[in-house]
Amino acid sequence: MIITRPREWERVRAQLADLGATRVFITGCGECATIAQTGGESEVLSAKQRLEDAGFVVTGWSVGDVTCNAGGQRLEARKHAGEIESADAVLVLACGAGVQTVADTITKPVTPGLESVFLGNVVRQGVFEERCQMCGDCVLDRTAGICPVTTCPKGLLNGPCGGMWDGMCEVVADLECTHVSIRRRLAEQGRAAKAEPLPPKDYSKKLKPGKVDIRPKYHGRKAGGAS
Ligand code: SF4
Ligand code: SF4
Repeated sequence: MIITRPREWERVRAQLADLGATRVFITGCGECATIAQTGGESEVLSAKQRLEDAGFVVTGWSVGDVTCNAGGQRLEARKHAGEIESADAVLVLACGAGVQTVADTITKPVTPGLESVFLGNVVRQGVFEERCQMCGDCVLDRTAGICPVTTCPKGLLNGPCGGMWDGMCEVVADLECTHVSIRRRLAEQGRAAKAEPLPPKDYSKKLKPGKVDIRPKYHGRKAGGAS
């Protein structure tokens, strides 16, 4: 899921002031931002209260299923058309992808209320960890399912670096060195002897913007992946 955190309130207010907005519609996200407790119903209602306390008029609010889903977002915009129409701006409590989906769906100015920080695993309720940077050239088959690109603070494919001390990371002191973890797990799986240094990654596979189209293609053929 996409992990978000709230943007500083003063900055959000400044964004609305820049837009000359006094009437605001607020939209959250029923998926990631709800789980991250940054853009679910309770956070949207808190933002509404805060805006009203600051003298804004909140014309309405919504929390759709998945804000980055264009189809669902169009439906949400239709359900709240009058409330959005009477607002000067829409404050979006969702990740950057969600903000852009809302902006594509309506004509009113849209402004973000959250920071998108990483693609995260839910380790336990309320605890999220970054495990993948979506590099497009996954090496987990060679690293016993531990991502060195993401979990080594230096992003080293091969390691440890010279700063590793007693198995621990030199950058994040309470973190075991990723490459120590990888080697231990490879050894536990009887794969250590065959492990070889990883070749340089093909970062051309990370070119932006990414797009995947899995709809059936011409002549009824299935698309294979990236297009
Ligand atoms: S190597 Fe790491 S960053 Fe790349 S796809 Fe695999 S888990 Fe994600
Ligand atoms: S000690 Fe290990 S995890 Fe930390 S920066 Fe060096 S190689 Fe990466």
